[in-house]
Amino acid sequence: MWIVPEAMIAGLMDRKASFEAVAGVFASMASKSAYNFPVIREAIGHADALYGFKSGFDRQALHLGLKSGGYWPGNMAKGLTNHQSTVFLFDADTGKCRAVVGGNLLTALRTAAAAAVSVAYLARKDAKVLGIVGAGHQAAFQLRAIVEQRGFERVIAWNRSPEKLASLKAVADEIGLPFDSVSLEALGAQSDVIVTIVSAHTAILKDIHVKPGTHIACMGTDTKGKQEVEAALVARASVFTDEIAQSVTIGECQHAIAKGSLHQSAITELGAVINGTHAGRKTEAEVTLFDGTGVGLQDLAVAAAAVDLAIAKGVAIEVDF
Ligand code: NAD
Repeated sequence: MWIVPEAMIAGLMDRKASFEAVAGVFASMASKSAYNFPVIREAIGHADALYGFKSGFDRQALHLGLKSGGYWPGNMAKGLTNHQSTVFLFDADTGKCRAVVGGNLLTALRTAAAAAVSVAYLARKDAKVLGIVGAGHQAAFQLRAIVEQRGFERVIAWNRSPEKLASLKAVADEIGLPFDSVSLEALGAQSDVIVTIVSAHTAILKDIHVKPGTHIACMGTDTKGKQEVEAALVARASVFTDEIAQSVTIGECQHAIAKGSLHQSAITELGAVINGTHAGRKTEAEVTLFDGTGVGLQDLAVAAAAVDLAIAKGVAIEVDF
């Protein structure tokens, strides 16, 4: 069995490898050769923790396993990150544990890669302005991954506490892109691509804010009750997702579905666009929206890539298990 510790991931996985792993598994999901198992998420009644696991099987790549972890709000005080996750991979032929992989950085990389894949396949080719809603841990990963997909010339952002945008500005400075903190109205009026990555429970970005032709990647809503954008905006858009079952229950689409303004049959898996079985964006004027709910198969795909790289570099730790 191989162990790839958290501290090793940064030296192994980059954005390109994450993009390829995520695009590949989205394609496999759409062609029905990979599927996710039902998600388990429990408040365990200890340390205020929310614990769960996401699992699945990719029959083509033979990725079988799970990501286990969750949210421990007291961790910061202990010098740890609040989100903790570990990926376990199993040999699909024998069921033996193949690898244990640190999952914290991988989660950020695979989430940003999902948004980047959606931009690559759905945003207008002439997109120049990237709008970001949010300034938490994931936001900088989103910024770095998305700007690589189009010839972006400017980044604008909104956060509930605008002073927290300083860390995002530092990333934009490093990349060499002008950065401005703006109102939601200005963000919607000027952005060609918008990513929302907050943990809100009411709509922040409204339908009226968003101009025609925009691509929106909604990445923060991954639980029942969470919401980032107005249901009317989802209803107006051509909607794509990683997995329809999650989109309508725990993703951004849950609200438009509940209101009856969106039908499940109108949601397309992003993998279908990657496979060429759906055209994706059809007009320059339409709003496209990717509901990135975060699936276990994404975690398995990036973890398997990290294990392969660690073995190839001779740094994976081998344990008799
Ligand atoms: P974080 O705690 O570091 O940052 C939270 C962000 O949300 C901040 O920008 C904060 O200002 C904002 N926010 C919180 N409550 C808000 C409210 N009521 N109104 C407006 N803004 C509010 O979190 P993070 O690690 O950056 O994650 C952001 C979100 O992304 C979380 O909801 C997380 O669960 C989700 N997430 C999704 C995936 C996926 O695959 N889809 C993966 C990882 C994280």
